Amino acid sequence: MNWREAAACRSEDPELFFPVGEDGPARRQIEQARAVCRRCPVLVPCASWALRNAERDGVWGAMTAGERRDVLFRRRTGSGP
Ligand code: SF4
Repeated sequence: MNWREAAACRSEDPELFFPVGEDGPARRQIEQARAVCRRCPVLVPCASWALRNAERDGVWGAMTAGERRDVLFRRRTGSGP
C-alpha cells in the first residue's frame, strides 16, 4: 500500500498544509497542520519522503519547509546534534 492512502490529511483542506511563510499568522496554521500530522499513521514515511525529495513547500510529516532545509543542511555539513 502506498503510504499516501493512509494519510490523515486526505480529509483535510490541502491549503492548511501550505502556509504562506512560517512566521506571524502562518504560525497558527502550521500548528493546526502539525496537529493533523501528529495523529497521522504515516508521519514517518511522509517526513522521509519530503526530505528525500527535498520538497520545497508545505508541511510534510509535521515539518515545515524551513525545518527540512535545516535538517538537510546539517546532514550535508555534518553539523548539529
Ligand atoms: S504526516 Fe501530515 S502531511 Fe504527511 S501524510 Fe500525514 S497528515 Fe499528511
